[in-house]
Amino acid sequence: MTKGRNAKLWTEALGVIAGGVNSPVRAFKAVGGNPVFVERGQGSRIWDAEGREYVDYIQSWGAMILGHAHPRVVKAVQAAAEKGTSFGAPTEAETRIASRICSAIPSVERVRLVNSGTEACMSAIRLARGFTQRDKVVKFAGCYHGHSDYLLVAAGSGGATFGVPDSAGVPRSFADQTLVLPYNDVAAAEESFRQCGSEVAAVIIEPVAANMGVVPPREGFLETLRDLCTKNGVLLIFDEVITGFRLCYGGAQKVYGILPDITCLGKIIGGGMPIGAYGGRAEVMRLLAPDGPVYQAGTLSGNPVAVAAGLETLSVLDDERPYDEISRRAEKLASEMGRLLESAGLTARVNRVGSMLTCFFGVKEVADYGQAGGLSREAFSILHKEMLARGVHLPPSPFEAWFLSAAHTEADVDQTLEAFGESLAAIT
Ligand SMILES: *Cc1c(COP(=O)(O)O)cnc(C)c1O
Repeated sequence: MTKGRNAKLWTEALGVIAGGVNSPVRAFKAVGGNPVFVERGQGSRIWDAEGREYVDYIQSWGAMILGHAHPRVVKAVQAAAEKGTSFGAPTEAETRIASRICSAIPSVERVRLVNSGTEACMSAIRLARGFTQRDKVVKFAGCYHGHSDYLLVAAGSGGATFGVPDSAGVPRSFADQTLVLPYNDVAAAEESFRQCGSEVAAVIIEPVAANMGVVPPREGFLETLRDLCTKNGVLLIFDEVITGFRLCYGGAQKVYGILPDITCLGKIIGGGMPIGAYGGRAEVMRLLAPDGPVYQAGTLSGNPVAVAAGLETLSVLDDERPYDEISRRAEKLASEMGRLLESAGLTARVNRVGSMLTCFFGVKEVADYGQAGGLSREAFSILHKEMLARGVHLPPSPFEAWFLSAAHTEADVDQTLEAFGESLAAIT
């Protein structure tokens, strides 16, 4: 235990890393205070640089569905590393993980491995454009598909508007190719297709949104998108970077019974190592180089160590099918949180789908980005700080999902609820 070490490391990081972090949300800007530096993790728990222990609900943004340092995954990584970490030539394990993905995800006949979710979504868009020979892309406000230029657009509220870049450095002319619609709004989707359905290459969506907090699709919404895409010759892309192998052994498409044309994966399929993948019907995937005219490549794509971690993670998930159990724990957490909020007299909404949930303070319902935007940032900041002080590591932003892993126990949930109850007192 070294007191003040988190603060010291933070000062050091600020001196050499842009903004002190290698991904923005880690910097605690949305909640205030300084980040804690993680020393190690085991199962549901992490320990910081000062030796403090936390129940962790970030879990690498959902990637660690088996919890940290799962013994089988660690062993697989060690064994792979000993045999060489990258070759730039095919390895058998790549075929093994591809077979697992193709057999678990109904719409995927062929898959291509890349290095991140960003790459998967960016490449899926290029493939859809190549296949349809059209340029425009439809996305939904509040959905995140990585940080590539065309997809870093969220746009204003209300009806369909042509996108405004979310970041400096994204050319206006790129963002113009992206049409942003409100999530869960069937009428807006229908109207937009009436106006320009024949110019659209792809509709990309998180089938369960988890980057504006958790927001489930309304009944009929995904079906409508599937119909509109089919009728207009548009490819439907499900970004299952979070939902893939989290909602079930497969993806949201299996749970909701809707088949997209292209599926994007990441996070869980790398078991905590950098990976991404996109796949679909053979007829579509055939357009990729070397067979077809759509170019996409990667020096480290299908990296042996990342593939070993992912393959072992999928294999444990397949053997143990922990989904019902994790969902039950998440259900208890969400419903008890709801009760505590009510008895504290606080207006809030807890959305949960499977093993992920978000507590939105100050709003009664969240079905789209507009409603999510009405949440109380202040209440969440207080909660975050109070929970951290009580040994619970929540995502440092009110717009993120909290992830449970198969390693989260009943005792973890009870400890979290106790901390939650106490923390609410600081808000009221
Ligand atoms: C995390 C995420 C991405 C981006 O993945 P990276 O590996 O961070 O590039 C894309 N889509 C969704 C839905 C995500 O949650």
